[in-house]
Order: sequence, then structure tokens, then C-alpha cells
Amino acid sequence: MAQWFALKAENPDFLLFFRMGDFYELFFDDAITAAAALDIALTARGSHGGEPISMCGVPVSAAQAYLSRLIRRGFRVAIAEQTATPPSKLPGRKATQKGPLPRAVVRLVTPGTLTEDELLEPGRSNLLMALAAHPARRGAIEWGAAWIDISTGLFETARCADVELGHLLARLDPAEILAPPDRDLGDFDLRRAPGEQPPSAHTARTRLAEAFGVASLDAFGTFSDAEAAAGLMALDYVRKSQAGSLPRLAHPVPQEDSHTLGLDPATRASLDLLRARDGSSEHTLFSAVNRTATAPGARLLASWIAAPLTMPDRISARQACWDWLKSDTPRVDLLRQTLRSVPDIDRALGRLSLGRGQPRDLAALRDGVAAAHRIAEELAVIAPDTRPDLIATLLKHLAECGGLHEELDRALADELPARLDDGGVIATGYDGELDAYRTLRDDSRRIIATLQNDYAQRFGVASLKIRHHAQLGYVIEVPTAAGAKLRANEDLSFRQGTTTAARFSTEELSELDSRIAEAAERASVRERQIFGLLVNRALEDEHLPPLARALAFIDVMQSCASLAVGETWCRATVDDSEAFTLDACRHPVVEAALGSGVRFTANGCSLAPEHRVMLLTGPNMAGKSTFLRQNALAVILAQAGLPVPAKSAHIGIVDKLFSRVGAADDLARGRSTFMVEMTETAAILNQAGPRSLVVVDEIGRGTSTLDGLSIAWAVLEAMHSTLRCRTIFATHFHELAELSGSLPRLSPHTMAVRDWKGQVVFLHEVIPGSARKSWGVHVAKLAGVPMPVVDRASRLLKELEKDHATGPAPLPLFDDLPPQAPVADPEPEPTADFSEYEDVLNAIMSHDPDDLSPREALAALYDLRKLALEAKRLSVRE
Ligand code: ATP
Repeated sequence: MAQWFALKAENPDFLLFFRMGDFYELFFDDAITAAAALDIALTARGSHGGEPISMCGVPVSAAQAYLSRLIRRGFRVAIAEQTATPPSKLPGRKATQKGPLPRAVVRLVTPGTLTEDELLEPGRSNLLMALAAHPARRGAIEWGAAWIDISTGLFETARCADVELGHLLARLDPAEILAPPDRDLGDFDLRRAPGEQPPSAHTARTRLAEAFGVASLDAFGTFSDAEAAAGLMALDYVRKSQAGSLPRLAHPVPQEDSHTLGLDPATRASLDLLRARDGSSEHTLFSAVNRTATAPGARLLASWIAAPLTMPDRISARQACWDWLKSDTPRVDLLRQTLRSVPDIDRALGRLSLGRGQPRDLAALRDGVAAAHRIAEELAVIAPDTRPDLIATLLKHLAECGGLHEELDRALADELPARLDDGGVIATGYDGELDAYRTLRDDSRRIIATLQNDYAQRFGVASLKIRHHAQLGYVIEVPTAAGAKLRANEDLSFRQGTTTAARFSTEELSELDSRIAEAAERASVRERQIFGLLVNRALEDEHLPPLARALAFIDVMQSCASLAVGETWCRATVDDSEAFTLDACRHPVVEAALGSGVRFTANGCSLAPEHRVMLLTGPNMAGKSTFLRQNALAVILAQAGLPVPAKSAHIGIVDKLFSRVGAADDLARGRSTFMVEMTETAAILNQAGPRSLVVVDEIGRGTSTLDGLSIAWAVLEAMHSTLRCRTIFATHFHELAELSGSLPRLSPHTMAVRDWKGQVVFLHEVIPGSARKSWGVHVAKLAGVPMPVVDRASRLLKELEKDHATGPAPLPLFDDLPPQAPVADPEPEPTADFSEYEDVLNAIMSHDPDDLSPREALAALYDLRKLALEAKRLSVRE
């Protein structure tokens, strides 16, 4: 317990997994917490201060599963191992030592420092982030941020203003954050790690440079003092978590934030980019476009969606690659097949660099390099004349590491064990010394096998066996009755008796046993040595990380090409103009979610400078939110260099995208629905500019009609005339359409519906014009609001509409409008109803299909067609 107290004092914020034999045991409060979290039995052992000590434990062999449950629930775990081998486990030795074995914490398992596949999500990065503040001019704070993914070796930094910190957190979605305790991290507060003080800038720069073997940090780019401090905090935390050793890390790379599309947390949440609101990745933009075949490919695609670009040349370089690949569809399929067998090289390297690698990790490198070579060959034959420059560079990277592959191929055995400890990792014939130990071990085993017969005859016990025993080594085993007879034999020394068997050894057997144990031990040591050399060889191969990156890139490219081959996804033109034209665009997630047989109605959208503000009205459930989101998603896809679900798209670079669709409250932080709406509206008004795109839904709905209308009106004017941003503004305040007289760049649009006998038919089509009705009562009925309430609402609505019809304007607010420019001719309302077809419908209803013979059915069909044609002629004449 003294050991336990010492280790716990060093790691007070961690649950201590204390190794005892084949179990990790937890004590005191740790045991109570873990037993509840893991739903395992809580027991007690011994006492402390007169109280029993609570205890629970998990078997070492199943520890990963338990760890993963604890980490997912936000716990941190310190693993204390025995740092010496128990004498009983040493070959050929007897258990003589008394007293506890030395123990030390060899690893802190925290959400941001995971390396095991079982604990990680394959298609997502797992980031540890550190934040350090730097007072900027006029008292404002600038942050330095650094993030590390130890499972892949990624290390990046950025600087950002205090107001932008939320954007950066939302973009990177770090698993664990080291931040000053007084900075509220909003939704990310729960991911805070127990923090350390940031180091001084000088210390940070010096130690970071030292860690990467350069004289100055400037060798890797320009870092602010706060970035350097955050970088060192992250690095030190990683080092501490790995008990002092550092994994393979790329050198820190400073990120230029101005090169990525600005997306604030509310926009990300409203668009379900990588995760839906329930935290799952189903029904997200990522899942709608993901056709990658490897985990690194999926991670790269996710990072592109999380951070679309603002540089047309980089966007077009990505597009050019998948556009080129798409020209050879059969080969894209072939490529995908090959990619399916590509292992996760980055994560294998991460584990190997921490000494946590297993034989399958080396095999992953061997197989990954072999696949890269095959992929390079497949790519080399696709349209070489039009090959983009980027692909030509990737081809070079993919063809590297031949030497490493050859070495691993020779070194690794055909059938690899799961663990290095199991032995048999290195192939026979690779290393003479290892082969010699193995031969010695195996020859001795063969001699032992022949001895069994000799001994059975010599000692006259037919059932005599030679067995290997964990503690005793090789022994002769005979039934107890025969054992009594043999005890007197001088050639045999009695070792152990049980109720059923007696165990003996001979001098010859003991000698062979130690020879085998020694040879096996030497073979194992030599095998570890070779494994270590191979690991070093792989870690030192500087061509391996670029090869892995090239594979991930090709995977994303084939994913894009697979999407685009059907010609329903297009390559957008993205440039520095002010254009915004989407032709027949779709919402990929809603489209995928519609049942078979229901077609998604594609809609175009034009926000050219002369009509850059679209005012969208239309009934509930008509598809306004879907339309708003699909335009925002098109920008994200286009600027990420990915295919866009449209016939064609032309987008002038958007610098910031704001999407507010669907109301939400934030009661946990004391903000009502309306307060959230206004805070988010304020954020847009304070940040959007002429290059931004804003898509907003129902501004001003959460308060009284007149308050709401006034707010919506003023916000619309500000977007139109002050911010001058491209905007789609959806609203149920139909009156706002009248502003098109005074706001020349406002173009009113509406969702087309048909009114059929008082029922609404949604056409999901966006057409010029504005709606007159919201059909809210109708939607309430569809939603199952009880009929008496619906009926009462309908009657009240009719009364209210009558009152308004007699009044001078839809709402008194418009009475006081300053004189406006003449209102342009409104587009005709979608007026069509089905009254002309009344006869046809009556005729249809008069038939009961079950009563008709085939001949009568055919005759009825002719009659109905005739009636319908007449009705059509009538309506055209009208
Ligand atoms: P509300 O004003 O009540 O929020 P809304 O006008 O925003 O409604 P949406 O939520 O966009 O309506 O759409 C309602 C449903 O209509 C969607 O869930 C989808 O099933 C369907 N829908 C929307 N747009 C289309 C489309 N273009 N094609 C086919 N179905 C669509």
C-alpha cells in the first residue's frame, strides 16, 4: 500500500491501475468510481485506518476494453506496472524473493494521448490541444494554439484572436485541451485536462528547437510566442503521458488561418458536417460524400471538410486530380480494391515509435509499401498526357521505400503471432544467430520427445509422460501409484506430488530443460533485438510518412472520382469573382435520406451581385431549410476541392460562411431560444463582410410578431446595404417581400406549392415571387395535433385573415413606411389548383377497382383519359 500511496500522490487526477500479477487493481475511491463506471464487482482487501480498503480489478488481458470505456466516459488512467520480472517467471528459477516488486507509472492514458486501435476511431484524428494566451494590442487577448495527434505524429500550431477561439475549437474538435482555468471553453469545457502553467517564450522556443534537433524554431516557420508556449505545453504533456518518452512527431507546422473558410461553431452545428447533433456520423455531409477505402483517407477527407480553403489555385489542384482520375472509371474501381487492403501506416508508426508496436504494425508497413507500389503502377497507366502535376509528385512518393519493403519482407515470418512475446516473428533464414538458438531449442525438444519412450521402458511405467510445467520446467509425470514405486529409484529426483500424479526429474532432463530454456531465452532476446532494429529502420526512413500521405490523398481522390462518375456531381468553378450560381443543386444528406421512389427536387440558386440577397418565403415543411443548407454545403464542398451535388456551380471565394438554420436553446448556459438567436444574429452582423455568405432562417420568430418583424426587417436591410454579403434570408414574414421596392438587390423567392381543395401539395421548387400563406395549421394537422384544436385554429385563422383583408396593409408596421421606390411587378403566385379536373376526379372516385373486369378497367381508363384531355383544353383556353 505504501507503493500505491506514493504513485497515487504523483497522479492525483488519475484512476490508478495498479498491476498485481495478471490483474490491474484499483483501491479506495478509485475502486468505488471505477466499479460504478465499469459495472464490475467492488470488494475489499485489508484495512487502512481501521476501515476496509475498497478494491476492484480488471484482468490485464481484457484491460483495453475497460480502458476504452473509462476514457469514453471522460476519466484519465495512470498505469502502474511491475518494473521487474517476478523470479518465478524467469526461466529455470525458483520463486525465492519475498516482498513487493518495484512498480512505476509507465503510461498515462488520457483522451488526447491514445495510440491503440481499440481506443481510437479509425476515420477521425485524435487531437491533444494546448492553448497559451498572449496579450495583444489594446488589452485584447491573442491565443497561441498547438495540437498534436500522437497516433499519427501530426503537430500543428496557429494563432487566433479571442473571438475566433471558438471557431478553431469547433474546427479541430480536440479530444483533450490544456487551457488556462479562467478561459471558458463553452461546450469544450468538459475536455479540459488538468493544466500546467505555460512556459516562458524563451524556454518554449529553446526546448522545442532542442526536441526537434534544430538550432532555432524559426527553421520550421514563424511562430508567435504564444504558439511556441502552447507547442511546448502540448509536447511536455505528451512526454509525461508516455512516462518520459516521445513518440515520432512531425516538426511543428504553423497554420495560416486566413487560408481557410471561416466557419463558426453555430454554423458547423447547423450544417452537421462531421457529426450530427446526436454525436453520430450518420446523416452528415461527411457520410454523404465519403467513398474512401482506408482510415487515413477518411481522416484526410474529414479534415478537408472541416477546413475548406480560400485559395482558388489550391482548390483547383485538388479538383484536377479527381477530375483526371474520373476519366478512367474501371481503373478507379481497381484502385479502390487495392486501397481496401492498405493498412493504417501512420498509426502503426505511432505505436512503433512509442515502443508499443506489435508484429502486425511492422507487417502494416510492409503491406502498405507494397500496396503503394501497386497503386503507383495503376496510376501510371491512366491518361499520362493529361496527368496533373500533383499526381506526378505523388507518384514519386508512392514508389519510394523499396529497400524497407524488401527488408521487412525478408525479415517477417509468413504467419505472424499477435504479440512479440509469443515469438516466431522473424522468419527462419533471416538471421543466423537467431536460427542457431532456435535449432538448439528445437533439437533439445526433439531429444526430450524421444526420451519419453526410453524412460517408460527403463522405469517400467507405460503411462509415463514428459510434460512441461510452468514452474518446474520439463518433468516426468506418472500416476500417483506408480510414483510411490519410483520414489526409491536413485536416478530420479522427486519434484512434486498431486492427488493424481507424481513428478520427477533426472539429471539428463534437467540439463536439457535448462538448455532449452536458455536457448529459448536467447532466441527471444535476439528476436526482440532484430524487431527493434527493424523498427528503427522503419522510423528512420524519411520517405515513409510522405508515402503514407500520398496514399491517403489518392484514396480521397478515388472517393471523389467515384462520386463524380455518375455525372450528378460536378466540378465547381471556384475563383476570385463575386459569382454565386448553382444549377440544379441538391442536398446530399436529405437526398440520401428520402425513401426510394421519392425524388429530390433539385433547385438552382443565383446570388449574382445585382441580386445578391434572396428573400425566401414559403409554407412550413416546403423545403426552405433544406434549400438554405444545400447552398451552404455546396460552398463547403466546392472550397474543399470536392465534387458538388449540382449540374454546374460557379462560386466566387467565400471568406466566411454563416448558417443559422433551426432554432436551438442553450439552457445549460442560461440562454433562451430567442437569446441564442439574437446572439448568433449579432455574431453575423459583427463579422460578415462582402465576401461572406449568410444563410439564415426565421430571424425574429422567437418573440412577438411586431418585435420580430422589426428585427428581421432591420437585419435584412443591414445585410443588403451595410454588410453587402451574399445572403439567403428565409422567413415567414411574407411582408418583407415588399422591401424589394426599396432594396434593389433583394430578390424575393418562394417555395412552390399547389393548393388542392384546401390541402397543400409541396413541390419543393424554388421560384421567383413570395408566399401569401404559411399553411401552419395544415402542418399542425399533419403532425397529429388533435382535430378539435386544428378546427378551432382554422376558424380563428379565417377570422383573422378577414380582418386583415379589410385593413389597408398586412401589418400596421408598413403603414409608417417611408415612401418607397415603385414596387416591381411581383412574379405570379403559384395559383394552379385542380378545379378543372373536378370531373375527372369524380369519375375516378366513382370506380371501385376491385369490381372491374379487365375489359371494364380498360374502358374506364379510355373514358378517364378523354375527360382529362377535355379538362386540359378547357384550362388552356381559360
Ligand atoms: P419549416 O418552415 O417548417 O422549418 P421548411 O420549409 O424549412 O419547414 P424543410 O425542413 O426544409 O422545410 O423540409 C421538409 C421536408 O421536405 C424534408 O425533411 C424533406 O423530406 C422534404 N424536402 C425538402 N426539400 C426537398 C426537395 N428539394 N426535394 C424533395 N423533398 C424535399
